[in-house]
Amino acid sequence: DPVLMKDWEIAEKAEDFLKPVKVLAMELGLTEDEIIPHGKYIAKVDFAGVLARLKDRPNGKYIDVTAITPTPLGEGKSTTTMGLVQGLGKLGKKVTGAIRQPSSGPTFNIKGSAAGGGLSQCLPLSPFSLGLTGDIDAVTNSHNLAMVALQARLQHEANNTDEFLSSRHLTRLDIDPSRVEMKWAMDFCAQSLREIIMGIGGKTDGYRMPSGFGISVSSEVMAILSVFTSLSDLRERMGKIIVAYRKNDEPVTTADLEVDGAMTALLLRAVNPNLLQTIEGQPVFVHAGPFANIAIGQSSIVADRLALKLADYHVTESGFGADIGFEKFWNIKCRLSGLKPDCAVIVVTARALKMHGGGPKVTPGAPLDPAYTTPNTKLVEKGCQNMLAHIQTVKTAGINPVVCINHFAADTHEEIDIIRRTAEQAEARVAVSHHWAKGGDGATELAEAVTDACNEPNNFHFLYPENMPLKKRIETIARKVYGANGVSYTPIAMEKLARIESMGDTQFMPTCMVKTHLSLSHDPALKGRPSGFTLPIRDILTYMGAGLVVPVAGDIKLMPGTSSDPNFKRIDVDTQTGKVKGLF
Ligand code: ADP
Repeated sequence: DPVLMKDWEIAEKAEDFLKPVKVLAMELGLTEDEIIPHGKYIAKVDFAGVLARLKDRPNGKYIDVTAITPTPLGEGKSTTTMGLVQGLGKLGKKVTGAIRQPSSGPTFNIKGSAAGGGLSQCLPLSPFSLGLTGDIDAVTNSHNLAMVALQARLQHEANNTDEFLSSRHLTRLDIDPSRVEMKWAMDFCAQSLREIIMGIGGKTDGYRMPSGFGISVSSEVMAILSVFTSLSDLRERMGKIIVAYRKNDEPVTTADLEVDGAMTALLLRAVNPNLLQTIEGQPVFVHAGPFANIAIGQSSIVADRLALKLADYHVTESGFGADIGFEKFWNIKCRLSGLKPDCAVIVVTARALKMHGGGPKVTPGAPLDPAYTTPNTKLVEKGCQNMLAHIQTVKTAGINPVVCINHFAADTHEEIDIIRRTAEQAEARVAVSHHWAKGGDGATELAEAVTDACNEPNNFHFLYPENMPLKKRIETIARKVYGANGVSYTPIAMEKLARIESMGDTQFMPTCMVKTHLSLSHDPALKGRPSGFTLPIRDILTYMGAGLVVPVAGDIKLMPGTSSDPNFKRIDVDTQTGKVKGLF
């Protein structure tokens, strides 16, 4: 009974019944040569080999899981992704899932596990949560090597003559230290490293200048891991990352620093997706990183391509609400992959809608306000406005939405009915799902709604054409997806906009917005469906390697902070069994 047990306790019990990964891979139709086992229950899959072997096989149905605007109450997106995979399994479908590797920042701070919960989880939990096969470490190292190259180059150019540099086969790059675009990466929530001064030792201790850290999953290298399509594509992208600008305005790339080959070498072990399983033994690919607010935040294109060749139904998760996670899935990931989704699931909970309807603030760790544990149809009804915005976004993409009401024990019939009626009036399919409490058996209504939606024709199309100018495109996303009245720019954002527009095709790279996930607007305090606001763009980054233009809206930071009651306090090791406990 999941009510009586924590997620990690359920996972620990369920792990007694795990399938060896060789069996899992065989059932999925993989050959022994196509898997690289990491222990008994996890393997990496040689995506290139499988895609070459199965190139003529038609793709399965492609389903994205998104949600309403997140609240601190948790909507259960990962739980629903796992639940839907298990539910489709119960209907006898050949199914796979794809989720992102959790970042250690949230794992040790407030999020805990990102493997789902209750009887809908991805296993084995501890390795999944604690670094898995090292992909994020590889991203961090690869990213930081570019910074090592940059600061060493700055130091050597500052301390030496042109003759000395040419004797070392170096041409002076004349880097402008005030225009360094890249910072360091670390996969923890370390707010004190957001802004730092480096090189504060002597002349041989590096170049003194301001710098800082972003969380690893927000790195351009992680974005590249999400969107690359082949090893040669990855190699090419790794040389295009803009690290800084020269005094003559030209970019300094990772190729200029001659570090791109080594960065690719460090990333090589991360290119193959990881194969894990649900509690009920369906295959789950885990690849690339979360954070659709400050990053692309999508499971990788290669994982989805692989899964679509192997399964009849593939469920991928895009994180946070449809305004950011789904918007990036839709306009970036699908554009770059050429894949067309068949349906999107919007995860809704009655209690999160109550918060959008004006319910009281929630403090993590504190007892829940009775508004969330006792019936309150008024708050639910008001909060449905938020759900309607996300339904409209999915419909704007031309695909069929299925609203999944992720059922909590305190939900009443009246509350569920309001959500159902409102979603149906907006022409969405609706299913009440009990996967958290019952696993796949509790998700068959959802799985049936999803198969129905997948079998209906759709009219998938992008929000903006490839050739829409950047400024117009930012405005289109702001107005049509966020509900803004318009967009404003800081002087620095205006300057960068003008520079990007003068860079020809660069302005037509897909647009990867950075915006809070906690509101449809840029202001996390505005719940429900805010209107009448202007979206303030404070900066615009250019990720040439990932091929993305990244406008930054509002105050959001690329390095989150650790809270006063972080989750690491509850994580420990049972020294008798050697098992990890306390992962939520
Ligand atoms: P998200 O992906 O939206 O952040 P998760 O799927 O990680 O949310 O779930 C967050 C937490 O909520 C997990 O601890 C999970 O066990 C719990 N949870 C999810 N759905 C339910 C439910 N229906 N009833 C009770 N707890 C739930």
